[in-house]
Amino acid sequence: MSSSVALRLPSIDGLLRHPACVPLAERYGRESLLASLRQLLDELRSSVLNGQLSAVEISPDVLAGRVGERLALQQRSNVRRVFNLTGTVLHTNLGRALLPDEAIDAVQMAARYPLNLEFDLATGKRGDRDDLIEGLIRELTGAEAVTVVNNNAAAVLLTLNSLGARKEGIISRGELIEIGGAFRIPDIMARAGVRLHEVGTTNRTHARDYEAAISPRSGLIMRVHASNYSIEGFTARVPTAELAELAHRHGLPLLEDLGSGSLLDLTRWGLPAEPTVRQAQLDGADIVTFSGDKLLGGPQAGLIVGRKDLIAKIKKNPLKRALRVDKLTLAALEAVLGLYRDPDRLAERLPSLRLLTRPQADIFAQACRLQPTMAEVLGEPWQVSAVQALGMIGSGSQPVARLPSAALCLRPQVSKRLRGRFLLNLETALRALPIPVLGRIDDDALWLDLRQLDDEPAWLAQLPQLQVES
Ligand SMILES: *Cc1c(COP(=O)(O)O)cnc(C)c1O
Repeated sequence: MSSSVALRLPSIDGLLRHPACVPLAERYGRESLLASLRQLLDELRSSVLNGQLSAVEISPDVLAGRVGERLALQQRSNVRRVFNLTGTVLHTNLGRALLPDEAIDAVQMAARYPLNLEFDLATGKRGDRDDLIEGLIRELTGAEAVTVVNNNAAAVLLTLNSLGARKEGIISRGELIEIGGAFRIPDIMARAGVRLHEVGTTNRTHARDYEAAISPRSGLIMRVHASNYSIEGFTARVPTAELAELAHRHGLPLLEDLGSGSLLDLTRWGLPAEPTVRQAQLDGADIVTFSGDKLLGGPQAGLIVGRKDLIAKIKKNPLKRALRVDKLTLAALEAVLGLYRDPDRLAERLPSLRLLTRPQADIFAQACRLQPTMAEVLGEPWQVSAVQALGMIGSGSQPVARLPSAALCLRPQVSKRLRGRFLLNLETALRALPIPVLGRIDDDALWLDLRQLDDEPAWLAQLPQLQVES
């Protein structure tokens, strides 16, 4: 008799007792389930009143399914693993260096148990956290003394403030750099309370330029690794040894921010030469600062090494407490540094070095192996080819040097007008995979540089889920 009965949403109580919801309550907790159910029902209410939904769409099973998806998404971590196929190995936005197993074990231990972070087990007295790694860093760098802070930006800030506050810091105009993430040498100097005294020109700075700048107001001379740009052509730069001699003649410390800073000569692995921390000190730099998570291949940290009296001054600065390194980092750093005692096996054991030194032939073979699968997954209108490519170290190491690598080159065979949209859609789809895949778009193609594709099974396993909008 009654033709159309208005549909009604199930009750919250009924849903909570529904067999499809019971496991959700167990998994995510009753409160979360309740909140999600309420939110979903609120969203559906007006559509139900307007007759826009079918009985099936508001059945308890379907509603439970939708709530289950929401809860799963809500619980998913915001910190997510990705595949870095950008071609940049030490990618700042993707977390830079990957830790070796030794460091991961050390982090676990430090996270799980109390430890002698600032406690001297020999004497039972209070200790200093720097002591845990000072010996190792001295051994590896030849430094007299060492202190470690949260990152290299902090190391530079702390060093400048400790040694040059209310005085002038002399630096070449060619070294007034900006590193990504708003780290600019002039700004850091200002924040450190050091007055910038720039000398020379962008491309050429001579010893006489530094000499002319020295006055009773001078506090230090600073040298900064150009990191992310290179000056070529008509250039002049005072060698560190000469600059150190000049600084010391006037009683000033020479501070060198190496940026990446390498502990060993990288050319032994066929990589471009980077100044080593040891050499900078041998050349006369009084304090050298560098990052833990760039070429060193460890956790984020800032290492400050050099003259004992200056390090003592730096350690007394109250800012040191604000910038101090945490226990997990220290544990990882010690483990990574330990691997440097055996340079012959370093390239096998340190992931960043292993990836940086992966032979091009090996990467190319991988590209050829994966090409048919990728071509099949993408189908029309994509052309997939295995090609040679050029990657880079990243994080300001060797900005112009390129690492010979290999890639899958994904090229849409569509009119020029449509190419951009196809590429963006593919890029979006790759990012939407359970483990997002990040490549780079260049020259009307999407490139997946395979140098860092270690976990091929995981990568292949998720490919069938790729859904590219067209
Ligand atoms: C990378 C870099 C820094 C900053 O180091 P973080 O460890 O990222 O804080 C400072 N100076 C130079 C020259 C760099 O290359």
